Amino acid sequence: MSKMTTREVIQGELGLEKVSSRRSLLRIRFWSKIIKMKKNRLVYKVYKKRREEFIKGEKKDKKNWCYWTFTILKELSLEHIWESEKLPLGKNFNKLVNKLVKRKEEDEWLANVAKKSKLRVYRKLKSRLVLEDYVIELDREKRRQLTMLRGGTNKLRIETGRWRGESEEERVCNVCLCQDVENEKHFILACPMYVIERANMFHRIREEISELEYVENMEEEWQLNLLIGIGWRKNNKEIREIVLDYIKKAYEIRRRYIK
Ligand SMILES: [Zn+2]
Repeated sequence: MSKMTTREVIQGELGLEKVSSRRSLLRIRFWSKIIKMKKNRLVYKVYKKRREEFIKGEKKDKKNWCYWTFTILKELSLEHIWESEKLPLGKNFNKLVNKLVKRKEEDEWLANVAKKSKLRVYRKLKSRLVLEDYVIELDREKRRQLTMLRGGTNKLRIETGRWRGESEEERVCNVCLCQDVENEKHFILACPMYVIERANMFHRIREEISELEYVENMEEEWQLNLLIGIGWRKNNKEIREIVLDYIKKAYEIRRRYIK
């Protein structure tokens, strides 16, 4: 991926968990082992002593091992389990923690995605923190092309204009010289300079997938998601290849007008 690619896009496309999340999981797993230990085990005794001190210090001592276990469980609304030291779900406790940590991470990631203006397309295309198939399937260059369009870090004026400090309305398309902002949607679905390539793209999609016979009549948001987002059922691979072909040809035309 390009060096300029936003952190949220890298994390999102790869479906990456943060190291801190993995550490949290390991810690809770370890803690659940300790509290199930025989009471004469040294580790158990040491834990009990530290726990006592932690409670005495009103649960504020960050140097106490208990602090982070307690804090993590509290953040997951599982504080009561720390207090009672009873794992009501037995073996499934780790699974539950796993799920809650994942959900929390996804929420934080979504909140960050919502904050960045250049992720305007990305937030419409992606809502789950899971690995994207194309990252594995495509070669490096094609992968880069797709990530750039999805993630907003690209050569289109909506992005380059931002670097130059232009207001959003000023970032109009210099290829077709219309008054539309040159953003991802304009590039893929609207710019008249690529009308033949676009018609060809839709034609190939219709040929390939009979269910998409009326693809050109669909709403733009939906088309965008079909082309560079969630795709279409089992035909994602085919659509991707067709779209990448369009992107390549459209960029070739664009280069003739914009240096
Ligand atoms: Zn245009």
